[in-house]
Amino acid sequence: MTNALTQARIDLAAILRWSARLNYQQGVCNHFSLLAPGSDELFLVNPEGLFWSEVTASSLLLCDLDGRIVEGSGSVELSAFGLHAPIHRHNKKARAVLHTHSPYATALCLIDGGVVEPVFLAGLQFYGKIAYDEDCRGGAFSTREGDREAAILGDGNVLMMRNHGPLVVGPTVAAAFDRLYYLEETSHRQILAMSAQRPLRMVNAAVAQDLADQVPLFDAYADKHLTAIKRVLDREQPEYAS
Ligand SMILES: [Zn+2]
Repeated sequence: MTNALTQARIDLAAILRWSARLNYQQGVCNHFSLLAPGSDELFLVNPEGLFWSEVTASSLLLCDLDGRIVEGSGSVELSAFGLHAPIHRHNKKARAVLHTHSPYATALCLIDGGVVEPVFLAGLQFYGKIAYDEDCRGGAFSTREGDREAAILGDGNVLMMRNHGPLVVGPTVAAAFDRLYYLEETSHRQILAMSAQRPLRMVNAAVAQDLADQVPLFDAYADKHLTAIKRVLDREQPEYAS
């Protein structure tokens, strides 16, 4: 195992553990995947049947885009290949692909016409950047469905699947996780605001666009976010990195 691959395993295990703390996992479903450093063909993914709270760096499976396990023991759920492999294949920004049924971003996906509105400062990074799949066709049990989702996502970094949940991609684990975290936070705040039965107050479009364009700022912040997560896990659950 190369040092870069070891580090990739540790980073992916860290955000799985952290996402478990944040209640993003449903049962033992949902997957985070990451292309192996230096490869466009192999990706790491959490194995079928584990809680994210149990994942360790060494328990992550290394697979190819056709569904074969190259390294590790266990199995990968069918929908992990069906959804994740096509997005890794088609979206060059998608080194990391994170899919959850996290409560609030998913709740927005369950509302007819529900979208992330430009209302919360911490969510303006998403302004104009979210793709919506309005046509739920069931689970991604084949890559045909994943190909369809990849086409809707295009080269974007957030896909909200109606009647299903969010999928976030990024060039690094840190960038993708930070995006997922703020998507869930923003959705939470927006749904709380909507429950007040008063009109949402939209941010001026130029202001929203200006913030959405600050990608380097968000990426730098994302690295610090992941470093802080690993600092806490190193102290409280150090086995995650084993
Ligand atoms: Zn799902």
